[in-house]
Amino acid sequence: MTDITQRRVPVAQAAPASDRREDHQPVLVIGREGRPGQPAGQALPGARPPRHLADLDPGERRAAAERLGQRSFRGDQLSRHYFARLTDDPVEMTDVPAEARVPLAEALLPRLLTAEREFTCDQGQTRKTLWRAFDGAYVESVLMRYPGRVTMCVSSQAGCGMACPFCATGQAGLTRNLSAAEIVTQVVAGARALARGEVPGGPGRISNVVFMGMGEPLANYSRVLAAVRRITDRVPDGLGISRRAVTVSTVGLVPAIARLAGERLPVRLAVSLHAPDDGLRDELVPVNRRWKVAEVLDAAWSYAAATGRRVSIEYALIRDINDQAWRAEALADLLSGHLAHVNLIPLNPTPGSRWTASDPGVMREFEERLARRGIPVTVRDTRGTEIDGACGQLAAAGRAEPR
Ligand code: SAH
Repeated sequence: MTDITQRRVPVAQAAPASDRREDHQPVLVIGREGRPGQPAGQALPGARPPRHLADLDPGERRAAAERLGQRSFRGDQLSRHYFARLTDDPVEMTDVPAEARVPLAEALLPRLLTAEREFTCDQGQTRKTLWRAFDGAYVESVLMRYPGRVTMCVSSQAGCGMACPFCATGQAGLTRNLSAAEIVTQVVAGARALARGEVPGGPGRISNVVFMGMGEPLANYSRVLAAVRRITDRVPDGLGISRRAVTVSTVGLVPAIARLAGERLPVRLAVSLHAPDDGLRDELVPVNRRWKVAEVLDAAWSYAAATGRRVSIEYALIRDINDQAWRAEALADLLSGHLAHVNLIPLNPTPGSRWTASDPGVMREFEERLARRGIPVTVRDTRGTEIDGACGQLAAAGRAEPR
């Protein structure tokens, strides 16, 4: 068996969920290279993305219009342009007086993300975009079109502080939290490309949004929550995507899961478990040293009880690391009788990693063992592997390549 203990990451430092510090720094930072508590990457202290309409709720938008010396309903008009017509171009805002368009758009619709590169595969039905933010931070989003549904996978942070050793984003450390509008912009860009018929398959709409791109969404709680509201609020206040079609995926930040359960927002929760035992999970998902498997699952079951929604348990199958028959049985023991569904993900090996995906036969056996125990289980499709757009591969590698 491969020795996974060689690659040690420093122990997590945790702050209580009641501590609102996530507006300035994540709830939890796992330092890398022996600097626990220090955000890694090129963090720019104090750098804040420009304010945008999508950071504000409808009342705040009206107030913002008034502060600009405009009538308050201009805030609603701008919302309609952005969320319903998917435009932020003042030229198209013909219902707004010409002299008001530019100041309103400049103040409330600044460009937040610039598409640096676009990668496609699956005959154009999988599209990954590498975005550059105002401060040079890079993030990625992936659009995946399937028959009857389009899923947008978005980033919630530039980089990630959770340091899971099998994840490409985890290797680079955290740069910073994204603003709500920076998250929403990724969805709007996908919606726009679909509406304009730029994605093969004809004009369409986004049906699902998953927070499974870069970052730990629950470490950027307030902004992710604001983004979820913009994504799910009715048109034209928001994008009008069903709340049940939004998935927030987490390493298992227990206080934040409890807080989310109290929001009365029936989004789906996905928990990245990856191991049924603390010994292995401490290594694969280092935050487990702070919140153990039992605590994470307790929080998940409370979430399921509060929302009535089945929790998705993510499990990346890593050859000879977490794919043994006894671990399948141990996982079934943990989940049996609970409102859960297991998503098995063949590991996408990250560059330089000595880990790889389990053999197909082993994967099948793992799946069958869970199914035999009555646990709903599916094997995740690994769309986008060839464009590094598959789970855990979002490392913004493209930025280093010549344009
Ligand atoms: N931080 C969040 C969301 C981002 S990752 C979380 O951890 O849930 C989305 C999913 O992809 C997580 O389940 C994550 O563990 C998984 N993942 C990361 N790297 C992977 C890889 N190399 N192969 C397969 N799945 C991976």
